[in-house]
Amino acid sequence: MPPVLTIRANARAQIRARLLAWYDAHARRLAWRAPAGARADPYRVWLSEVMLQQTTVPHATPYFEAFVERWPTVTALDAAPRGEVMAAWAGLGYYARARNLIACARAVTGELGGKFPDTEAGLRALPGLGAYAAAAIAAIAFERPANVVDANVERVMARLFAVETSLPAAKGELAALAAAFVGPERPGDWAQALMDLGAVVCRPATPLCGECPLARDCRAFGSGAPAAYPRRLAKAARPHRHGVAYVLVRQGQVGLVRRPAPGLLGGMLALPTSEWRTAPWTRREALAGAPVSGNWRGAGEVEHVFTHFSLTLSVYATSGAIRPHPDLLWTPIGEALGAMPSVFRKALERALADEAASPFPP
Ligand code: SF4
Repeated sequence: MPPVLTIRANARAQIRARLLAWYDAHARRLAWRAPAGARADPYRVWLSEVMLQQTTVPHATPYFEAFVERWPTVTALDAAPRGEVMAAWAGLGYYARARNLIACARAVTGELGGKFPDTEAGLRALPGLGAYAAAAIAAIAFERPANVVDANVERVMARLFAVETSLPAAKGELAALAAAFVGPERPGDWAQALMDLGAVVCRPATPLCGECPLARDCRAFGSGAPAAYPRRLAKAARPHRHGVAYVLVRQGQVGLVRRPAPGLLGGMLALPTSEWRTAPWTRREALAGAPVSGNWRGAGEVEHVFTHFSLTLSVYATSGAIRPHPDLLWTPIGEALGAMPSVFRKALERALADEAASPFPP
């Protein structure tokens, strides 16, 4: 790691003061945030941090509100049937998080009397809490001086100091720069101020330097090309896969399966599918792999992007008299649309649109 830049104490103090003053005036109003001066609820902070892993604030907000309305405490969440929690999570993606959420609620309720640990190390020991989430909860819920570093904070540090090392190699350097600003005064507000600056002002492609409280301190702004930071190595192309989704409809119900856990989308209700592979599926192969024999027809394709690969799902549908199958869970269509992960919801919607345009013979 290159030597970390030295930040003079008075420069550090000025940056902290400017950013905290800006935060006092411009903090985002978020569903999980406590009002100014009020103590944050560790359950709400934890739930929001788990939901926000890989999910944007606008997308996570209605899920957060629905969860706290239905399960207002970690004890209530722990008491909820697992299937209901997984179904309420459907659409948020990254379903390992939902399984970890359930495991974490179990650990806090069963082993810790319903109280979250109030240190970074104690939080880190809980299921599914990585370094970032543990630091964020420690700072925001318990006012611990933790170094909370996500992509927003990395970007702000890379720009403030015009760090020339490319990501991901620069991660350690950027974390060390961020650590220099962490202190015992208002650690929760400091963490959230940096997050807000990165999300609202120091935006990835179009930083709003004219509105930034740190413009006079910022070397990337001084360079005239702030968006050129953080430096990045060229990304490898995301691999692409192909699969087949089977939609079986009978009397207003659709035949679903429960995906095995662990695994991608593990534990979630889903349409039956083929293996997902690099080569496209021919119609003949798709029909040979169908869960039941029947009058199958192609209903088009849907595309979906996961973190590590993108997917084309060919959708095949059948309806009417379908032979019994022990693995199929017959679920009302409306319920299935709400309970399945997005990729399967898209496939079911594709099949329904195809059916509406050209109904199956009765
Ligand atoms: Fe980001 Fe611009 Fe502010 Fe620098 S001046 S921290 S580039 S918004």
